Amino acid sequence: QLNEKEATLRKLHNDVVDMRGQIRVAVRVRPMLKAEEESSNDGIEYPAVNAIAINQGTKKGTTLMFEKVFTPLFSQKDVFVNIEDFILSALHGYNVGLIAFGQTGSGKTHTMRGGDAEEEEGIIPRAATFLFRESKKLEATGWKFEFSLSFLEIYNNEAYDLLNNHAAVKLRLVNQTVTLDGLSDHPLAKQSEIGSLLRTADKNRKTAATKCNEYSSRSHAIYMWKIKAHQQATGISTSSMLKLVDLAGSERAKESGVIGQQFKEMTNINQSLSVLQKCISLQKSKSQHVPYRDSKLTQVLMDCLGAGNSKTMVVVNINPCNDQATESKRSIEFASKMRETHIGSAVQQRDLY
Ligand code: ADP
Ligand code: MG
Repeated sequence: QLNEKEATLRKLHNDVVDMRGQIRVAVRVRPMLKAEEESSNDGIEYPAVNAIAINQGTKKGTTLMFEKVFTPLFSQKDVFVNIEDFILSALHGYNVGLIAFGQTGSGKTHTMRGGDAEEEEGIIPRAATFLFRESKKLEATGWKFEFSLSFLEIYNNEAYDLLNNHAAVKLRLVNQTVTLDGLSDHPLAKQSEIGSLLRTADKNRKTAATKCNEYSSRSHAIYMWKIKAHQQATGISTSSMLKLVDLAGSERAKESGVIGQQFKEMTNINQSLSVLQKCISLQKSKSQHVPYRDSKLTQVLMDCLGAGNSKTMVVVNINPCNDQATESKRSIEFASKMRETHIGSAVQQRDLY
């Protein structure tokens, strides 16, 4: 039923999933900012391609390997070129999740959303351009694609619609699927329409001041891309999801010195991130109970984290300053744990998606 090229592509993807597992972990270290010129940043080393070590003073850090290590020299475009094949899987029927993790100020929003200038665009607007371009190519093989977008925010363990006045969204779990009641759905007929949707979402994102940073993102933003594919000749229809996630800051509450309402926010964030880590770590051992239900974040991401035709990539963002080394180490250790569970050493050096 599938043509030869598609069958080959699907087989390739299946082989790669078998070989590499469903979870990939990348690290991105952002460059120093103008405002940081006074601080030193000689603590991070790249001992080999896709390897990183974070030293603390004279204490040498362990060298850790990842699927990708994006040094500060990687531009927005360089990063995208390295992950676009992974995103392409969503057009081939996979549920794909790409999750930016890291402390506040480490570059999550820059990586996912980026700036307005074309070269500063992050993964989300680039994904729009890419998916339209690639879907046009597949149209030559008789497939028709339809895209629609929903943007969701999880703040204090409650869900809100980022494209409809921050209206409350109710999660309903029936069997193994979650329904998002009240979340608006926006058809995307052309790539240029993504800009105004992103600006609406930006306005709606909540930020709160902490000692970590002037404004610190306290919410998880999930940019969901529903993909419907239909092949007229065969009558086959498929649907898949691409979820691009800008997580809340992963810093520890006691290090940012927050109290009251903000402390409650931190507790919710820490809880949802630790459930996310658990779900990712346990995902491969099919026999064990995976606690998706324990947080709204993992309920929303469940279809990208668990099922057989899903793939997840976590991009761990790192602040390069020496005075942030404690948080940076925590972040890459968190990342390394997720990776170890999934990838045997034999395939560590392979460069496939
Ligand atoms: P987060 O979302 O993790 O809190 P941001 O994405 O807001 O962090 O990044 C913090 C600051 O660093 C912003 O001013 C952002 O523009 C800048 N920044 C982050 N990553 C990069 C990068 N790769 N290149 C240049 N500037 C960056
Ligand atoms: Mg942010």
